[in-house]
Amino acid sequence: METAVALSKCEQYDKEQIKTLLQQHFHSLDLEPEFFSGKYVVLKPNLLSRREPEKAVTTHPAVVLAVIELLISYGARVTVAESPAGLYTENALREAYKASGFMEEAKKAGAEFNYDVTSRDVPAPNGVACKGFHIITPICEADIVLNLCKLKTHSLTKMTNGVKNLFGTVPGGEKVEMHARFSNSGVFAQMLLDLCETICAAKPVITVCDAILAMEGEGPGTGTPRKLNALLTSKSPYALDLACCQLIGFGNTVEMIELEKKRGLCPANPGELNIIGTPLEELAVRDFKEPKSQKLPTLIKLIPSFLKPRPVINREVCVGCGQCKRSCPANTITMEKNKAFIHKKNCIRCFCCQELCPYKAVDIKRSFIFEKIMK
Ligand code: SF4
Ligand code: SF4
Repeated sequence: METAVALSKCEQYDKEQIKTLLQQHFHSLDLEPEFFSGKYVVLKPNLLSRREPEKAVTTHPAVVLAVIELLISYGARVTVAESPAGLYTENALREAYKASGFMEEAKKAGAEFNYDVTSRDVPAPNGVACKGFHIITPICEADIVLNLCKLKTHSLTKMTNGVKNLFGTVPGGEKVEMHARFSNSGVFAQMLLDLCETICAAKPVITVCDAILAMEGEGPGTGTPRKLNALLTSKSPYALDLACCQLIGFGNTVEMIELEKKRGLCPANPGELNIIGTPLEELAVRDFKEPKSQKLPTLIKLIPSFLKPRPVINREVCVGCGQCKRSCPANTITMEKNKAFIHKKNCIRCFCCQELCPYKAVDIKRSFIFEKIMK
């Protein structure tokens, strides 16, 4: 089991400084230039939706560019590939890359961008929840995957980082179907681990985490940016996620990480991680805000689902763009008078609508009885 995680204090998005730190990380993890030289490296950033870098929704351009320039200087052929929410078409990819804030500079540095919208069937015979995936072609063809994630809270999985970032290797709209198929948060987490294990079994997956400016509260799309000043790298997305979980003080409360421990993918005790560089305690925080949907003590999770937090549309803020409707796996959002409307009966509380609304128009509502029980 890989337990090494390189961690550095990094207080600003200075590309040259980040490049120097990543060089040190790679060296400390035995990822010397020869490892990358002549290889086809596919870089998978988090480009969830079109947002400015200071909103902390997407991997910061300075981090992406630092990785690209470093890998190209090592002699790698680098392609950026992402499958953002919504349609997986050449036009949608062009828009996502254009909005990323790093496209022009990355091209100048010699990186390519993926426009191939095909995918391949990849079996996962040992999968616990899922026995096979469609995975976008560039990830299947890569010699090495550079998993470039952003540390954020998540309304369904509580935290999104290295493992969850690889969900973006499933083509566009199929992600919506998978939310419907694996609607329970525990089963969804098992599916994410099946996917991550499938990719990691096929090729090296190096995970770099941008936690310089993380996101707390109502992540992954509408939370609050939170300075953490941390940059991490690992050959294991599981070890890296476990380290990040400790960094934000979530302890043993993230279901997906507890499942990773049970599968033997990361140490059961975070003390067994081999943190190289800055001690974790130096950057750890204790007041990182959870998403409202997750602040549920175990007993409260037993109450009927109709009493649990659910998404509601703020009609004052909704602009009727329809993004939530297109992303709803339960197909339970309609547009009425150019505003989104959630038919709550069929809602499976996956919070995709909240995650993907670009205008922060989806709130999480807790019922009066629920609030009383919580008190
Ligand atoms: S709730 Fe958000 S995503 Fe849905 S239509 Fe309104 S603005 Fe668009
Ligand atoms: S309304 Fe929102 S939370 Fe409910 S199923 Fe649709 S996307 Fe998921």
